[in-house]
Amino acid sequence: MATVNNWQLKREMEYPLEDAKPKKQIAYVFDTNKCIACQTCTVACKTTWTSGRGEETIFFNNVETKPYGSYPLKWDVNLMKEMKDQVWDSKTGEYKGLTVFEATEEDGRIKGWRPEERDYAFPNIGEDEVLGTMEKGAFFNGIHDVWMFYLARICNHCSYPACLAACPRKAIYKREEDGIVLIDQSRCRGYRECVKACPYKKTFFNMVTRVSEKCIGCYPLIEQGQQPRCVTTCIGKIRMQGFLGQPDQIRKDNPLDMLVHVKKVALPLYPQFGTQPNVYYVPPIHVPKDFLYQMFGPNVDETIETYKNMKDDKELLAAFLLFGNTPYIIHSYQAFDTYTVGYNEKGDELVRVPYTETPFVRPYRDEKLATYRHNTP
Ligand code: SF4
Ligand code: SF4
Repeated sequence: MATVNNWQLKREMEYPLEDAKPKKQIAYVFDTNKCIACQTCTVACKTTWTSGRGEETIFFNNVETKPYGSYPLKWDVNLMKEMKDQVWDSKTGEYKGLTVFEATEEDGRIKGWRPEERDYAFPNIGEDEVLGTMEKGAFFNGIHDVWMFYLARICNHCSYPACLAACPRKAIYKREEDGIVLIDQSRCRGYRECVKACPYKKTFFNMVTRVSEKCIGCYPLIEQGQQPRCVTTCIGKIRMQGFLGQPDQIRKDNPLDMLVHVKKVALPLYPQFGTQPNVYYVPPIHVPKDFLYQMFGPNVDETIETYKNMKDDKELLAAFLLFGNTPYIIHSYQAFDTYTVGYNEKGDELVRVPYTETPFVRPYRDEKLATYRHNTP
């Protein structure tokens, strides 16, 4: 075991391998408030990467409805039951419980569980099911106790991957150039230790090839300076992919650093597992806080407050407006008076987005075509 620093937990922790930081770390921000569960991301990923034999139940990307949805079945609930006391220090924000690396199994292996075949049989379980029931005759008045939200999930390309640490064949590696975590298919022997150890259940066993597979972060696109398929196809424009700096190398002109480190408006999913995941979520603003504390850690209140007041913060608004507006990876950005601009690694302009779209009202009668627009009020 090595001692490594996990900034999400605000403390050092035990990890089975030495810390080996990549030159750049791939990272994502997902705004849960904008996801409509259209599953376009799921389909785009599936048709691109997992349409082969044995991949029928493999979803590198899935979108589940919380609180009842989960794929594979109960992936998070099962682990949390095992982990018991997941407490955070209310003053310092430090995690006082044990991570999956510290709360080991009796044989010293990483705390985890391996799903059964049937746990992969219900990818849309709980979809659109709400928690709570409406009184008869109730009507929507803007505030109510009935809730649900959509959680889009991919591999987190963790800084301390549990899948990698658990592999007895050393078939899993983290790329030095971008921090993407990959499985070497030729080394894998299908022991499924990664499936058991990944807290997010984002490695999958292929029943036909008898080896494991996982999200590859669309590395062929990343190598060409483009964002992954699940990001560029997102209908709700909830996603942005880029590279995240370590806390001691924050750049305020990097939109990912701005969202995660500077404004702290996006939080890791279940940081208490200890893998330092690199998908950051803007939590839903309408969900009971206890549920969110468990899922995103203790900083939910400040995060939601910052998010709600975004209109008064041009730097933050500018970063959010870049979501879904270019297929290319934005390395830096600048907030101008009336618009924001995203740049690539060389500093060339990629995209320019106004803060307010100019409305264009079409006339009722088009003189040139001599037609009427009957749907124009
Ligand atoms: S494409 Fe975007 S909006 Fe649609 S389900 Fe996926 S993350 Fe949500
Ligand atoms: S989310 Fe799971 S599969 Fe992905 S890097 Fe982390 S531990 Fe590995």
